[in-house]
Amino acid sequence: MSYTYTIFKQVKSKNSHEPEFIQAVEEFITSIDSFVDKNSIYSKLNILGRIVEPERIIVFRVPWIDDNGHFQINRGFRVQYNSAIGPYKGGLRFHPSVNLSILKFLGFEQIFKNALTGLPMGGGKGGADFDPKGKSDNEVMRFCQSFMTELSKHIGPNLDVPAGDIGVGAREIGYMFGQYKRIKNEFTGVLTGKGHDWGGSLIRPEATGFGLVYFVEEMFNYNLDSSIKGKKIAISGSGNVAQYACAKAIELGAKVITLSDSSGYIYDKEGIDSDKLKYIMELKNINRLRISEYAKKYNCQFVKNKTPWSVACDVALPCATQNELMESDAKELIKNGCVAVAEGANMPCTNHAVDILLENKVLFAPGKAANAGGVAVSGLEMSQNSLRLNWSREEVDSKLKSIMHKIHQDCINEIRNKECDNYVEAANIAGFKKIANSMIEQGLV
Ligand code: NDP
Repeated sequence: MSYTYTIFKQVKSKNSHEPEFIQAVEEFITSIDSFVDKNSIYSKLNILGRIVEPERIIVFRVPWIDDNGHFQINRGFRVQYNSAIGPYKGGLRFHPSVNLSILKFLGFEQIFKNALTGLPMGGGKGGADFDPKGKSDNEVMRFCQSFMTELSKHIGPNLDVPAGDIGVGAREIGYMFGQYKRIKNEFTGVLTGKGHDWGGSLIRPEATGFGLVYFVEEMFNYNLDSSIKGKKIAISGSGNVAQYACAKAIELGAKVITLSDSSGYIYDKEGIDSDKLKYIMELKNINRLRISEYAKKYNCQFVKNKTPWSVACDVALPCATQNELMESDAKELIKNGCVAVAEGANMPCTNHAVDILLENKVLFAPGKAANAGGVAVSGLEMSQNSLRLNWSREEVDSKLKSIMHKIHQDCINEIRNKECDNYVEAANIAGFKKIANSMIEQGLV
């Protein structure tokens, strides 16, 4: 039995109750399989066996009081996965579905994504099974303060620097930062995604969505000698990543025709323009309403409880959540002429869906590469905090663009070196090499 398969078998039997984690490890191990077999140092030092095991997991109780005076309890987590190349770095997710399986899959992917950015950041992820939806600002604040009261014991600017993710945006980061400052009596860059006036980087809110579209543009330029200008784009989600992917796609002349949330999707044949997008940002970020309101205002179609993958498009950008694009969706996209799929969300495509897309020669960009722009600008926020200065919008955007270009180039280099023939394998091999070689140099870690 091969070394990689032995490791995967062990992961499956040790974590049999963690399907998302197993899925992420399977995707990773399958794609680096032959590279690891060719380089016996990795099996000799059991690098893979070490990488799949998190360095540390913290699980804690989060008590808080709701507006009716009732005592509520949630479960909080921080998975400090791998610190081979820098302090742990990765978002916090607040969503009722949050559990260890989901955070381990996210933390595992984060290791390689962070390595691909070229910045010194290890991998981690955290969050809680708390649902900010339908809660008052005061309830969200009390929850964030309680969450940070415990988390503050385990993080720090040189140890672990969390950021946002699903359900954690500017409001939540602000409340958590305020609590950290009160507890530690210090003002440090312990979180990224902060407000611009108190240490946040310009372009951080935009970074994941912008970076995603920059990566798609690189794929179009390199593989098709073309651009996304004039292309029809279907996007899922309507949160942070989806909004700014939509903004950048509009700016580059593409036509975005769908957005969604967990209640369904809107289909605007005319295309979402910047005024309509401004309305969506107000709707979601300030009024915290549902995407169906858009269909009422602009008199277009709202399809309840469905994802947008049956709509004919040239490019699909899944930007909502894991496993939202399945095998049948991949077949439907191909049937309707889709030429590129890029993951704005983490693991939005199932492994079977990815296989179908690759078999049919659809350009496919995995999240580890395509959505790395967010953590890249988080890394730039950490640098600005350490240097105690702020870079301009143009400066950060140009650094983001060159990081996305470099990630694309690293993938192409792996393909040219004949290590692999698609972006999934290329991103995994490029990320793995940096982590594995750093671990080797650091001895028994
Ligand atoms: P937000 O909370 O801002 O938005 C999430 C969006 O996805 C919402 O529209 C939400 O709809 C939808 N969604 C969430 N869960 C589900 C579900 N189970 N089914 C259908 N729709 C769902 O999160 P982000 O935009 O920040 O994150 C989106 C994805 O991008 C996640 O996978 C995240 O890990 C990934 N990502 C985010 C980065 C960032 O910088 N923010 C960086 C890299 C990756 P509803 O409101 O109805 O729940």
